[in-house]
Amino acid sequence: MGHGYDLHRLVKGRPLILGGLEIKHAKGLAGHSDADALIHAAIDALFGAARLGDIGEHFPDTDERCKNISSVALLAKAASMVAEAGYAVVNVDATVIAERPRLGAYKTAMAEKIAEALHIEPGKVNVKAKTNEGLGEVGKGRAIAAHAVCLLVKNN
Ligand SMILES: [Zn+2]
Repeated sequence: MGHGYDLHRLVKGRPLILGGLEIKHAKGLAGHSDADALIHAAIDALFGAARLGDIGEHFPDTDERCKNISSVALLAKAASMVAEAGYAVVNVDATVIAERPRLGAYKTAMAEKIAEALHIEPGKVNVKAKTNEGLGEVGKGRAIAAHAVCLLVKNN
């Protein structure tokens, strides 16, 4: 079992990419890659479960190859690393926390994107969306956070 957490600031002049989808919003997430906090949390959950360290070690923001890279591509790479380590993904569950925009309508499509990158059935991925009840930086619409857990099974 592995856990992942991520948060990125919302800034003007960037597209909003979450769960591999481009979502219409006045601001986007700041970061070196496409700053997809949900996918980054999922990557760290995979690495955590396989005891492979964390996203910063494998895809450092000092690496020019990671600049503006699609995080879904990084998730697919993480999935192949986990497979090489001898594990298969049982399921992934994630929660994305955003005050604005409301993400409920995108949950299923986000889960499908994650499943596709992991080469697993869509039924093995669940994405939940919440607000932060107006509290803190996330609640004030200045950031979007995400949590994820992943269960792996050892291949024989
Ligand atoms: Zn991130």
